[in-house]
Amino acid sequence: MKKLKLLYEGKAKKVYQTEMAQRLIVEYKDDATAFNGLKKGTIVGKGIINNKMSNRLMQRLEDAGIPTHFVTELNDRETVVQRVSIVPLEVIVRNIAAGSFSMRYGVEEGTVFEQPTIEFSYKNDSLGDPLLNMDHAKALKLATDAEIATIRTMALRINEILKSFWAECGVTLVDFKLEFGRLSDGTIILADEISPDTCRLWDAKTGDKLDKDRFRRDLGGVEDAYAEIMRRLVSHDEK
Ligand code: UDP
Repeated sequence: MKKLKLLYEGKAKKVYQTEMAQRLIVEYKDDATAFNGLKKGTIVGKGIINNKMSNRLMQRLEDAGIPTHFVTELNDRETVVQRVSIVPLEVIVRNIAAGSFSMRYGVEEGTVFEQPTIEFSYKNDSLGDPLLNMDHAKALKLATDAEIATIRTMALRINEILKSFWAECGVTLVDFKLEFGRLSDGTIILADEISPDTCRLWDAKTGDKLDKDRFRRDLGGVEDAYAEIMRRLVSHDEK
């Protein structure tokens, strides 16, 4: 499969048309942004790690019955995915309070929830991805009731699968962001990426952050953390 026209360039990825109408090629970059693009930088090797990690996790989800956009990895940075129209919702699943949840509600980071909590943001960069509820999502015609129900069920199931997988790697899955897309027949599938850019991953023993918070919060050791989380995943799969 070949990259044809560049369809879209985002903060961390480029998306290309291919000779097949229903297939796209995603190319992962090392560019990193935070705070809605206010902070910019490079995390050397991140594109390779995010590509490979996302693909392995999506394959694992597929094996567990979750439909995803993953088709095939082409090389270190490029992957063939199914073409979807993205549902303009950022779906965040949280197991432990952190980040914007802790800030907004004054809850100490690290507070463990009794059950996972889901929240939705309107995926709209110029508005800064505002938090919204499901009535808002319906008023804005972002998704139907049935689609929202499907997305919720899938997000919770994905959380269960990923939480136990990361636990086996000695990693606590704190929270993560998902995006879903519609195939041409309307089927909802998981899209975008699952990576240290989109998940909070803490070492289960030490609590060390092994994710993009090291970049967001200038904690140092950013590249090392990405390499370490990838190493955990690879060594799990080799066992
Ligand atoms: N997240 C993301 N993209 C966003 C916002 C959040 O991938 O635009 C991820 C983030 O990495 C974290 C989870 O979603 O794993 C929850 O993020 P939060 O709402 O706490 O926002 P943040 O503190 O990152 O601004």
